[in-house]
Amino acid sequence: MRPPDRLHQAITAPLRHLGNALLDLALPPRCHLCRCFIPQTGPIHLCQACRTSLAEVSSPCCTVCGRPFTGAVSDHPCGACLQQHPPWEQARAAFSYEGGCQELIQAFKYRNRFHLRRSLALLIAEQLSRFAAACQADLLIPVPLHHDRLTMRGFNQALLLAEGLSDRWQLPLLRQGLRRSRNTVSQTRLSAAERAANLRGAFSVPDPAAIRAKRILLVDDVFTTGSTLAECSRCLLTAGAAAVCCVTVARALDPIQ
Ligand SMILES: [Zn+2]
Ligand SMILES: [Zn+2]
Repeated sequence: MRPPDRLHQAITAPLRHLGNALLDLALPPRCHLCRCFIPQTGPIHLCQACRTSLAEVSSPCCTVCGRPFTGAVSDHPCGACLQQHPPWEQARAAFSYEGGCQELIQAFKYRNRFHLRRSLALLIAEQLSRFAAACQADLLIPVPLHHDRLTMRGFNQALLLAEGLSDRWQLPLLRQGLRRSRNTVSQTRLSAAERAANLRGAFSVPDPAAIRAKRILLVDDVFTTGSTLAECSRCLLTAGAAAVCCVTVARALDPIQ
């Protein structure tokens, strides 16, 4: 099959998003996951059963990478973070990347359900507002997409989430805080070490003065091995940021090692 024509993608992606948004406006509110009608819907648009089915990531967990523990009684750094502290100060995810949460993120990213951005940002805000306040961030920065992938997809999912969080947390958003200067091969089938090598030098900071001595809250959709967030954090710190913390909607709990 011929690869999709980029110009065609660039034109049709926004139209598909508009079509989905209009359909949602025309129909009574339904749960984003099971599609049941919700008589008294909140802004997240999930029915009670689907909302409670999302696996929250909570304490006890690693204080550095946010990995949840089973059997521990309190938060502390995990073995991997003790062995090599990641460049960020702290990272937290709202949910485990499975079940309904995985379905929502995949529909948002790959099936043009663009309007899910609001629900996903609200879900992060619901779970991680206390964490975000403790980070004392000056700025929100989204993990960037390379221009080629942005053209294919039509939007950067991390930027859309960061826009929602910027409103919610009253934090300035620096849309171009990071740039993905090199396109990388898909990370999906790579090990943690291969991911790190694949990403080396992939990001740059276009305006170092805008981030100098600032505490940054980095936003992405999924924490898989943490290699993307680590490379972005390293890049921001090298360019002069004071510290980086990370928030994601979800965390893969059994990443490929
Ligand atoms: Zn439901
Ligand atoms: Zn850890």
